[in-house]
Amino acid sequence: RRLDHAIVGLLGVYDDVTETRRAQEEMLLASMVYESSSEAMMVTDADGNIITINPAFTKMTGYALEEVVGKSPRVLRSGQHDQAFYEAMWHSINSTGGWQGEVLDKRKNGDIYPKWLTINTAFNPDGTPHRRVALFSDISEQKKSEKLIWRQANLDTLTGLPNRRMFHANLAQEIRKAHRGNQQLALLYIDLDQFKEINDALGHDKGDLLLVEAARRLKSCVRDSDTVARLGGDEFTIILSPLEGGTRGTDRIAQAILKRMTAPFTLGEEMAYVSASIGVTLYPDDATQLEPLLKNADQAMYASKKQGRNRYSYFTKAMDEAAHARLRTNQDLRVALAENQFWIAYQPIVTLASGRTHKAEALIRWQHPTRGLVGPNEFIPIAEETGIIIDIGNWVFQEAATQLERWRNAHAPDFQISVNKSPAQFLNSGTVTQDWLHLMRDMSFPRAGIVIEITEGLLLHAAPIVAEKLMKFRDEGMDIAIDDFGTGYSSLAYLTKFDIDYLKIDQAFVRNLAHSGKDRALCEAIIVMAHKLGIKVIAEGVETAEQRDLLLASGCDYGQGYFFSRPIAAADFEHFMGWADKA
Ligand code: C2E
Ligand code: MG
Ligand code: MG
Repeated sequence: RRLDHAIVGLLGVYDDVTETRRAQEEMLLASMVYESSSEAMMVTDADGNIITINPAFTKMTGYALEEVVGKSPRVLRSGQHDQAFYEAMWHSINSTGGWQGEVLDKRKNGDIYPKWLTINTAFNPDGTPHRRVALFSDISEQKKSEKLIWRQANLDTLTGLPNRRMFHANLAQEIRKAHRGNQQLALLYIDLDQFKEINDALGHDKGDLLLVEAARRLKSCVRDSDTVARLGGDEFTIILSPLEGGTRGTDRIAQAILKRMTAPFTLGEEMAYVSASIGVTLYPDDATQLEPLLKNADQAMYASKKQGRNRYSYFTKAMDEAAHARLRTNQDLRVALAENQFWIAYQPIVTLASGRTHKAEALIRWQHPTRGLVGPNEFIPIAEETGIIIDIGNWVFQEAATQLERWRNAHAPDFQISVNKSPAQFLNSGTVTQDWLHLMRDMSFPRAGIVIEITEGLLLHAAPIVAEKLMKFRDEGMDIAIDDFGTGYSSLAYLTKFDIDYLKIDQAFVRNLAHSGKDRALCEAIIVMAHKLGIKVIAEGVETAEQRDLLLASGCDYGQGYFFSRPIAAADFEHFMGWADKA
């Protein structure tokens, strides 16, 4: 971009010619150079009166030569800059001869537009200013695309809210402000409950509508100065800064959000209902840095989910410790599979009438190198959250199926093993063919040797993929058992719908069988109804002969519990069965 210097040079060459002729020559030369230029040009005399312009000037500003010649460039001013702006410009021109920068000017039609302006001066031999040359280009398009780029980088396209990136920048800034002003700040982490289900059921378009409306509702719960951002999916954050009224302020806002979110969402023809789980953390009380604040808010949100959703929780130190323990377990789980730290315990399932055993439940055990034996209740939920349950579940299945094949071949051709399958495995394990059926492809025994234990909840929230997989297992001849029956919704309607084979009465009912008439009546009712539906009943947690007798009298088919045997290693199980000597 040396054109401006060229024209300044040209102007300087003609110093010795008479004023008028010189001006004409200048104009001629200037127009020759700038006639076809897309850059606008304007030449003024030392007093700042316009001498000439080029066609690009006319095209950009709307002014023809005769309209501006002899006038001051002030006609171009937009009024968008203050006096100080022009003073600084002139200070630079007077001291260095030049200036360059961005200016907002006005076209003849009144439009205001941004331009990039360069001003240079041609000096007389005595050093006084002779001419000034202004070159400028319209940068509105460039500005527009810069703005677009900025929007794309900082705003969420769906909701128009700040995105994760801008949220981080805002939070960092608000933390600095709060620090300087010695003020409190609250960070809220909001996750919608049941959003995934709505998205799956009604489609992504409706899901998008819901998110836009949710964003609008969130904004309506806070001041304009507070930041509401979307981190992605159905996760939002709010920065309340400065926080006024301490936790009373956050209580009020969190309650308002919960209330607004539970109001029905109208999505085209459909109505949908969601709720929100919120986590709250405070600066500087809980943490003073960005990352810990984010982590705290996330942990508190997680606590709200755990406690049943549609609620808000403040971050506490205990949450942090629990999260650490989860993290440690999760890390340990990753090595556990590779290092063979898992083994399977088998617990006999006894036919009550005959006292004989033809079934066992496979229960995973974790021999942790430092913690010792860790029970599944401690690590299965964590494995479910992180998805590693898929690998663990597949390992259990493979192991149990291999064991079953051996036992059926060597000792009991009709033996059955039941394996627990958590909902997470149904929802996340990809296609049916990659699943357990695939693992069994080379095994010789009939598929009916395997019983899959699922919980009631799975049927209740049955997504199409769940039903599809259950049917597939069914078609292959596997049996299906409902675990922990009675603790959830206990809907017998689902049992018929999915063609269930076994129902396992939860140990909570069996425990009080001898002492509570109510539990006994309930057990009996379950047994009678299950039998009517062609379903066999297994009682869990049978610990005494009395319980066994009551169950038998009630018509219960099978019993499982410490009374018969604890879950034991495969070798011990063979002893229990009396197979060991024969082997
Ligand atoms: P569950 O499927 O209901 O298994 C029965 C649980 O009751 C087992 O606990 C068993 O040891 C215990 N139990 C059996 N008889 C008695 C008794 O007479 N009294 C008492 N108090 N308890 C008895 P465990 O082995 O700790 O397993 C807990 C849960 O972990 C299981 O409950 C199951 O939901 C889950 N789990 C176990 N193994 C697996 C697995 O391989 N995959 C999955 N996804 N979950 C598993
Ligand atoms: Mg079970
Ligand atoms: Mg159970």
